[in-house]
Amino acid sequence: MLPQNSLLHAHKMKLRWLVALSTLPLLGVVTAFGIMPQPDAMPALGRTLSAAIALPEVAGAGSEAAYWHTDRMQRGDTLNELLHRLEVSDEAAADFLRRATDTASLRQLRPGKVLQAQTSADGSLLSLSYLDNDGNQVAITRQDSRFRVEIRPAPTERRIVVQTAEISSSLYAATDEANLPDSVATQLVEIFGGEIDFHRDLRRGDKFSLLYEQAYVNGEPTRNARILAAEFINRGRILQAFYFQTGNHGGDYFSPDGKSMRKAFLRSPIEFSRVSSGFSRARFHPVLNRWRAHKGVDYAAPTGTKVRATADGVVRFAGKQGGYGNAVMLDHQGQFQTVYGHLSRFGDVRRGQRVSQGEVIGYVGQTGLASGPHLHYEFKVSGVQRDPLKTALPDGKPVSAEQQPAFMRSAETLQARLSLLRNTRIALLD
Ligand SMILES: [Zn+2]
Repeated sequence: MLPQNSLLHAHKMKLRWLVALSTLPLLGVVTAFGIMPQPDAMPALGRTLSAAIALPEVAGAGSEAAYWHTDRMQRGDTLNELLHRLEVSDEAAADFLRRATDTASLRQLRPGKVLQAQTSADGSLLSLSYLDNDGNQVAITRQDSRFRVEIRPAPTERRIVVQTAEISSSLYAATDEANLPDSVATQLVEIFGGEIDFHRDLRRGDKFSLLYEQAYVNGEPTRNARILAAEFINRGRILQAFYFQTGNHGGDYFSPDGKSMRKAFLRSPIEFSRVSSGFSRARFHPVLNRWRAHKGVDYAAPTGTKVRATADGVVRFAGKQGGYGNAVMLDHQGQFQTVYGHLSRFGDVRRGQRVSQGEVIGYVGQTGLASGPHLHYEFKVSGVQRDPLKTALPDGKPVSAEQQPAFMRSAETLQARLSLLRNTRIALLD
């Protein structure tokens, strides 16, 4: 009856939730489901493993038995509807939850939040627990005829996750297929942003392998994840990056020989996102090739896509200029200049102002001589346009000499874990 129903219900919802077993002795049927803790270096992550454990019926089990019910807050839920689904039939409890100051977080709980209730056989509420909107663990427990409310920070669990994928249509199709959170995909793009122009360089058959640390609260992954090691095989070129703690204030990513992954110039001035990555080139017809012998690189992207300074620099010009339309021109160290044309509008840029690498300086548009929304990007050395992809660009700071041995040890360990992945099956992606 009740436990069986709640098991089916929970399975249907694929809850990533570990239900604690009741500690009460005379329990008829107990159910347990949730995700197994993932041991290090285990390739498949994010699968929800479920198991039902049926215990033998115990004679005499009755009013002492406790039942667990799990459900999610739904849009437009009333407290009564929620308690009904949790199979709580308890006026005193309902009244307390409706009025008490300490239970205000329940009444404000966002849709999708998971609640666990423990009831007696007759529906009296024994305990209710949930993560509030701020991520705190709230536990409401019956003590004789009263209820006690405890609020404490939910414990965080860290797991090391390894994942590998092959690109067959787009980077995001691959990251979705591999179950990677978007925050991890974004880190991947940032780490290799000095080496790979993710808008132009990716090819079918490119592969990546990742080892990252993911924080979980109550068995649910949080936004808190960090890549520890990454390998990207782009058009046959193997790139690797390892996270290394360089000081008390965090760390950075380095290649296996200790060189910084941070480059003086980003490969792409366009922010890489689901939207910009999926923008069809077919919508952009570069009739502009006649214009000025076209010495730049064109990026088709939706109007409004963020345009970033590819390197630290100073604004030389921000305004309208002929065929460029709304344009920003930046001066960088070492006789480098960059130009960004056809912008729909500007970021916060004025002549003489300093900008940092990655700072938004404008938004894609089609001002000037442009037949569709795109960014015209030029990279110049001493005033002469060069192909940014073919120009050797200066690097960021490498691992210091004192830290080199520690870095090598750490990189070796991470590399060994990554190489374990190479022989595993690669997720097939559409
Ligand atoms: Zn152009």
